[in-house]
Amino acid sequence: MTSKTLNQFLDDCIAELKENGLYNAIDVVQGANGPVITIDGVEKINLSSNNYLGLAADNRLKAAAKQAIDSHGVGSGAVRTINGTLDLHIQLENKLAQFKGTEAAISYQSGFNCNMAAISAVMDKNDAILSDSLNHASIIDGCRLSKAKTIRFGHSDMKDLRQKAKEAAESRAYNKIMVITDGVFSMDGDIANLPDIVAIAEEFDLITYVDDAHGSGVTGNGAGTVKHFGLEKRIDFQMGTLSKAIGVVGGYVAGKANLINWLKARSRPFLFSTALSPADTIASAKALEILMGSTELNEQLWKNGTYLKGELKKLGFNVGVSETPITPCIIGDEKQAQMFSKRLFEEGVYAKAIVFPTVPRGTGRVRNMPTAAHTTEMLNEAVSVYEKVGKELGII
Ligand SMILES: *Cc1c(COP(=O)(O)O)cnc(C)c1O
Repeated sequence: MTSKTLNQFLDDCIAELKENGLYNAIDVVQGANGPVITIDGVEKINLSSNNYLGLAADNRLKAAAKQAIDSHGVGSGAVRTINGTLDLHIQLENKLAQFKGTEAAISYQSGFNCNMAAISAVMDKNDAILSDSLNHASIIDGCRLSKAKTIRFGHSDMKDLRQKAKEAAESRAYNKIMVITDGVFSMDGDIANLPDIVAIAEEFDLITYVDDAHGSGVTGNGAGTVKHFGLEKRIDFQMGTLSKAIGVVGGYVAGKANLINWLKARSRPFLFSTALSPADTIASAKALEILMGSTELNEQLWKNGTYLKGELKKLGFNVGVSETPITPCIIGDEKQAQMFSKRLFEEGVYAKAIVFPTVPRGTGRVRNMPTAAHTTEMLNEAVSVYEKVGKELGII
């Protein structure tokens, strides 16, 4: 057998994706991300962003970013340990620690990068990681990078977690054992059972790691899922992103001072990749200031989420088990989910189909992400389009 050329490989793979309806054409958004976006010159009600609080184009963040560019330029100049640590980074990290109720925090260039960095700085081939089966791709990759033994437990299945934790602990095969979970699962909008996870972790001396990318700014009056359950003192790693509710870009880990010091000494994206830019850093700090100063945006987000979910449910859509503003409409068949999304688009609603492998096969869905910035009129318009398309395709 001769080996494939790159072109043969790519042609085969892309053809297969297209055949299975899994090839995603990427739309170009003209202008800012907000509750209404423009694509090909046409306005659409946007129900696909993670811009939960509408901060991505907030005037206060924009003003802060412009000021930071004037005072600190556009780039950090180096990795943090060489001479890229700006006073702005320290200000941001102090605010993050305050926001999360921890001793310290460290920022990274993205949430994805954070999981690459933090898991492998602490876990190695002599360790084991208990990982929820629906954890985010960046957790899966971070675990792989660490070379620890990954042991998957059923999604939010506490019996399975306890059993596997017990087996791992009693085997005495591992130096350290970690349990890692999303705080909010973004495909269904359900919240991790952190009280039980913490109880199991304390029973078997597990390290605890919560990736709260979709919880921060959303749950716990905005402070996140760990705060929602009052577990700030009992979770070792509180990881989050600055790119979703915070509206900018970047990631962070909050925890005890010794953990943060170790990550500053040993985590590779911190040591070998240039720090967040001044504008991103200060805009993120501004967002945290807004969040810590008022729950107004958070309340509006929940109000909009509850409203949209209620209206779609009334129409007969299956909105699943969401406990957060995330509102999936589960359709099932992949191709039908994609057709549904396409028809919504043509009618002026931007809500993307999410299909295998992002969600299990046969659970294709259109996922709606209402934000604090949507008006009731926008949501009503979206609901009436849902009704029209739902009837047309025989879904309701
Ligand atoms: C989005 C997301 C990330 C990655 O965050 P970025 O800042 O976008 O890189 C990590 N974990 C989870 C659970 C996410 O949803």
